[in-house]
Amino acid sequence: MRIIADLHVHSKYARATSPRCDVAGLCEGAKTKGISLIASGDFTHPTYFNELKRDLSEGDDGSGIYSYGGIKFILSTEVAVSYDHRGKNKRMHHILLAPSLEITSQINDRLAKFGNLSEDGRPTLKISNAHLAEELFSISKEIMLIPAHAWTPWFAIFGSRCGVDSMEEAFEDQAKNIRAIETGLSSDPAMNWTLSSLDKYSLVSNSDAHSPEKLGREANVFDLDELSFRGITDAIKTRKGFVKTYEFYPEEGKYHYDGHRDCNVVLSPYESKAVKDICPVCRKKLTVGVLHRVIDLADRKLGFKPENAVPFQYVVPLTIVISKAIKRPETSTYVAEEYSKLVRYFGSEFAVYEAPEDQIRLATSKEIADAIVRVNTGRVRWIPGHDGVFGQLILDDARSARSALDKKQKNLSDF
Ligand SMILES: [Zn+2]
Ligand SMILES: [Zn+2]
Repeated sequence: MRIIADLHVHSKYARATSPRCDVAGLCEGAKTKGISLIASGDFTHPTYFNELKRDLSEGDDGSGIYSYGGIKFILSTEVAVSYDHRGKNKRMHHILLAPSLEITSQINDRLAKFGNLSEDGRPTLKISNAHLAEELFSISKEIMLIPAHAWTPWFAIFGSRCGVDSMEEAFEDQAKNIRAIETGLSSDPAMNWTLSSLDKYSLVSNSDAHSPEKLGREANVFDLDELSFRGITDAIKTRKGFVKTYEFYPEEGKYHYDGHRDCNVVLSPYESKAVKDICPVCRKKLTVGVLHRVIDLADRKLGFKPENAVPFQYVVPLTIVISKAIKRPETSTYVAEEYSKLVRYFGSEFAVYEAPEDQIRLATSKEIADAIVRVNTGRVRWIPGHDGVFGQLILDDARSARSALDKKQKNLSDF
């Protein structure tokens, strides 16, 4: 059974989210995208937790997987931890996956001691990573704790602003109980493979969506005999049945390069190292992005693929591809119509990414088909994302995304 899973999303009770992010809205969004297993998001929020108990139905099988409207749900939340480490405040986000509503309820009771769970769908807890892990695993060893968007400057284990340099530094003696990290939109598995210390952690990819339209920006593909919580978490841990991940081109992510959005400064790690990470416009410290941090911590060249690594495939949200192809704004009705046409033809957005070229050409106009084929074959380039601004897709071969990666490879050993 092939399962496309998005394990990190938010509800309408988290800050800056769409009011349609509830069980029904996530279900509808998952259908359009072709996601078969969607995270509930925000199970720590008391009001939303009551909605989950009301709306989700549990099969008789005790599989730990719930359903609504034909879509399967896995109980998931994101928490922020804040603690002092070697005289500095550290803030990091973690995804939690829970095996049942009952365990979820126990998690919520326990975590309420460390912060106000009602304040935000992603609550802030005054607790260290190791202490959080201890609390969770003392409730159930089946719970999974996955560091979220591991490289983003803020709120991530390896982030330039409030992170640390290794899993052991982050989790102390609990590091052994962490089995996966989320690569986030601004890094891809190939970048993470440049750190030998991460070989033992599986790399998962999720959308971190704040609206139903953003679901599945990244996702995980599993092939399992039967769908259960244990089946999914075992596949993540062992990589057996973990087929691939769908990835953003990392250049598209909001923190791939270094820079200052207000100063209109975008720099590669090599360029910002040359100016000692100081913004040439305002003279303040640049927001150091994901590629820079990966290069700092890497002990291998880009291009190395560890044994037992899970493959990945680049995708670009279809509305962006259509918008670029027909030169209309992403939110225009033209784009919405062309998007619906393709989704109706193939059944879902992910089915479009998997369709053979001749089928794509039958289903849509030449410009849009050309653009989709370009994205699928990597013949695109990017103005890289930086300091909270998404990267911009450019549909030409002038310098392919691949050759941008080659450039990184060449320079990786220079630092
Ligand atoms: Zn987060
Ligand atoms: Zn600046």
